[in-house]
Amino acid sequence: MKALAELNRNFREIELKEVKKPRIWKEKELLNGKVANVMVIVLRTPGCYWAKVSGCSMCGYFKETYDAGYDEIKKQIDEAYKKYEGEEIVKFFTSGSFLDEKEMPRDLQIYAIEKFSKAKKIVIESRPEFIKNLEWLQGNIEVAMGLESANDRVLEYSINKGFRFRAWLKNAKLVKKHGKKLRVYILIKPPFLKEIEAIKDAINSARKVADIADVISFNPVAIHGKTIVETLWNRHLYRPPWLWSVVQVIKETKKFYDGVIKCDVVARGMARGAHNCGKCDKKILHAIEEFNLKQDEKIFDGIDCDCREEWLDFLELEEYMI
Ligand code: SF4
Ligand SMILES: [Zn+2]
Repeated sequence: MKALAELNRNFREIELKEVKKPRIWKEKELLNGKVANVMVIVLRTPGCYWAKVSGCSMCGYFKETYDAGYDEIKKQIDEAYKKYEGEEIVKFFTSGSFLDEKEMPRDLQIYAIEKFSKAKKIVIESRPEFIKNLEWLQGNIEVAMGLESANDRVLEYSINKGFRFRAWLKNAKLVKKHGKKLRVYILIKPPFLKEIEAIKDAINSARKVADIADVISFNPVAIHGKTIVETLWNRHLYRPPWLWSVVQVIKETKKFYDGVIKCDVVARGMARGAHNCGKCDKKILHAIEEFNLKQDEKIFDGIDCDCREEWLDFLELEEYMI
């Protein structure tokens, strides 16, 4: 949609700071049914080409990028390696596509993967258009691909994702054909959807990738600065998802999906992130974290709060709103 693309492009015209250090943190995640240590490395690269063309309505990651050259990125990989403590999983994020050679030249992609070859699994992210011949990707690689929604109308009019589900699926199948694992990101509550529509959209999207995804990772929308979603939120035209909605998406997906379900809640419990009433947020966020590591939906049983009724009323009332 032209208007959405144009509006988004305007946000990208901010001046980017030169940040030369990779952002690194450690976390835990399931690996072959066991809790494993994870090192996450956000490399500062020129970033996502799509964010420069127009970009997705909820994405502010372009602010983490700058025009880093070959040597600078290599230095960042070396710097990250100094902090490597043998974590079983290493995730490389570039605020774009690891496989885009304009962001990460092929030699650097190989360099990064070889450097961390002791890890049992390396996760990289890519838009579908960069999935081509993956034979050169050695080791246990998992390719994470943002689908966000399997509904073309949502992809075009809510997210401005720049591809359709069919094109995404074709490239996702290529990942599997090359013997790599596939992680699929699905967005919970893209803009311009009612809460109930967003719940259904996330579940339907999961259903459509259930037979090829090794991991489904739900991302409840958080309000990033300088985005369309932030503009809507500032005008009270958008509310990030309720945590009850997030729990419902997880529980419903668990009924038909055997792979690993993950959910990372950013801006946890705050106005800019998925939240409930404020009293029960911590409890639910904790349960989601526990679910990520145990995959047991019974964790959510017995969690209740007065705001659950409010959420149910909201779902119903919104149906009558324009
Ligand atoms: S969400 Fe991904 S594809 Fe969209 S602009 Fe951000 S980095 Fe690029
Ligand atoms: Zn509550």
